[in-house]
Parts: sequence; C-alpha cells; structure tokens
Amino acid sequence: MLSYEYFSEFNFTMMKKPQAIALISGGLDSMLAAKTVMEQGVHVEGINFFTGFCVEGHTHAIREKDKSKAKRNNALWVAEQLGIKLHIVDVIEEYKKVLINPKHGYGANMNPCLDCKIFMVNKAKQWISENGFDFIITGEVIGQRPMSQRKATMPIVAKQSGADDLLLRPLCAKNLEPTLPEREGWVDREKLHSITGRSRKPQMAMAKEFGLTDYAQPAGGCCFLTDKNYSAKLVDLWQARNSREYELDDVMLLKVGRHIRPKPHFKLIVAREEGEGRFLEGYRREYISMKCSSHSGPLVLIDGELSAEDLYLAAGITARYGQSKNADVVDMAITQKDGSERSIQVQPLAGDLPEGWLI
Ligand code: SF4
Repeated sequence: MLSYEYFSEFNFTMMKKPQAIALISGGLDSMLAAKTVMEQGVHVEGINFFTGFCVEGHTHAIREKDKSKAKRNNALWVAEQLGIKLHIVDVIEEYKKVLINPKHGYGANMNPCLDCKIFMVNKAKQWISENGFDFIITGEVIGQRPMSQRKATMPIVAKQSGADDLLLRPLCAKNLEPTLPEREGWVDREKLHSITGRSRKPQMAMAKEFGLTDYAQPAGGCCFLTDKNYSAKLVDLWQARNSREYELDDVMLLKVGRHIRPKPHFKLIVAREEGEGRFLEGYRREYISMKCSSHSGPLVLIDGELSAEDLYLAAGITARYGQSKNADVVDMAITQKDGSERSIQVQPLAGDLPEGWLI
C-alpha cells in the first residue's frame, strides 16, 4: 500500500507550478516577456541588477529640466504593474570587470552590452540554482540592438552565461530553437512570439493588448554607458588617472554638471543649475570646492591636486559661470576638504574655453 508521504510528495510534484525569474530592466520588453510567461500560469519573479549606470531616478531626480519626469524606480514600478516580487541585486563591484575589460568589446559608446548581458544572465542562473527556480526569462528581441541582440549573439549569451536552454526569450522564441521550458511543456511555444527587428510597433501592440499604457521609454535610453557624452567623461577619467578603476561616486559624479579639464591633473565639475548644486554639496568633504562670494554663481568641485597657479586658473574658470561672468574682478571662496575656507580675487577667464577643455 502506498504511504501518505508518497501521496503528499506526488501531489506536490503534480501541482507545483514552474517558476521563472525574469530580468527586469524597467523597460517595456522585459515587462512584456514576463507578462507573456505569467499568462501561461508560470510563477514569475523579477530580478534587477544595479550597476550604478542606470539613468532613471537619478538625473531625473536632480535636474530642474527633468522635474516633470517620473522619479520612480522603473524596475520596481514594472514589478508592481505585473504584481510580482522584485529582487534588486547590487552588482556594482562585480560589474567593474565587465566594464573595464569586456571580452566582446564595446558598442557605439562605452556600453559593453554583450558582456553585460552574459554577466546578468549568468547572475540569474546562479540565482535560480540557489532558489530552486526552473528557468530564466529575458526581453531580448532578435535584431533589436546592434550589439547584443542579434541572431548570432543569442546563442553566445545562452552559452557563455551558462544558462544554455534554461534561457527563454518569450518575445522572439519562435525564431529560436525550443528551450527546456518549451520542451518540458512548462510553457506553450505556440503562445510565445516571433518579433524581430528594431521596430517597436509589435511591442506597443502587445502592451495595448495587455492593457499596459504607461511604460518607460525602452531600448537604450536606460543606461548611461550608451550615452556619448557620459562615455567621453568616463574615458577622460580613466586617462587622467592612468587606471580604469572607479568607484560608485565617480559613476554618480559623471552624471552631473559640466566637466572641464584645463590640465591633465585636475578637472572642474560645474553645477549647471540649483538641483545639481545641491547634489554636489554632498561631496564637499571629498573635493576642494569653489563658489563665487561676490556674485551669485554655481558650486564647483575640483577633482585633482592644484598648485597655486592652478587654483587661480580654476577660480577664473568658475567665475565665468553665473552673474560674475562679466565682472572685472570677483571674490572666490575656496573650501578645502576639511572645511577650512579662504577667499581669493580673480578675473573671470575671458573668451571661449580652449578646445578640448570641456569634456
Ligand atoms: S545598455 Fe547598459 S545595461 Fe543594457 S546591456 Fe548595454 S551595457 Fe548592459
């Protein structure tokens, strides 16, 4: 006679829903991919990796001109819309090796998209092993992005991440070989999709079908590493330090202000408006700072060591911004990292900034 334990275990096995973890960037594609699989009765949770380079909720939160934009964390917001649990994982330290030395190189800017994708899917693979989940979902679409989302790169991501056929891309699955979740019948391949190319129309139509009307602008706009100006500032930082090392504070400060490098060994970070000025205030214990005391003007942080001559040059540049711009002489308050202050008088630097100073 079969025991009670046998039936309990049997029933559990029969009833256990397949479980999937969905990479949630906060954009539309990953949202639709997760939703597609949820509609098939799979238990889905989301995972979001925080590299420090995410755009949302940072500059939008700081700059006056972005005041009208939502200050939400889009990944959390997507999870809320879908009604799923979201795991936010800090990968700042581990991500450095991806960005500093990507095996597959960079995209149009400093975006190591293919290595980044492999890294994140690999992290998700580790996560499902540790948490007893069955497979991984991403919002990848063949042909959507020139570097990481091509037909040729799909198997590379699956293989080099170690996820292999545990990686399901619901939005383009029908154009790929069946994965384990499809072969096992955890999901019905017929109800998956075959989207290809850069057009956003199929995704927008699908969003409408699901009744999703509010979503973040997708594809590329969510990561500073795809931004030309940001990438130039990152390369400049590495060159100036003669090292590719960086800290989260560096990542954050590259998002804010005008960066001006008059000499290889120092640069100025000039607040462009009040919100940025208040943000930079938080860094005054780590950097020498300057602010015009005779006229209203921006807060400026100095990254680097200054000689006496450099100090006057930096003050002259600082005086170019704000109401001191056309003054003959201005008073400049200089604050050291320990809080001690002194004041010097300078003339605002005249004329255009020499080429190459503004990063
Ligand atoms: S855009 Fe940024 S976050 Fe997205 S894959 Fe590329 S490097 Fe990674």
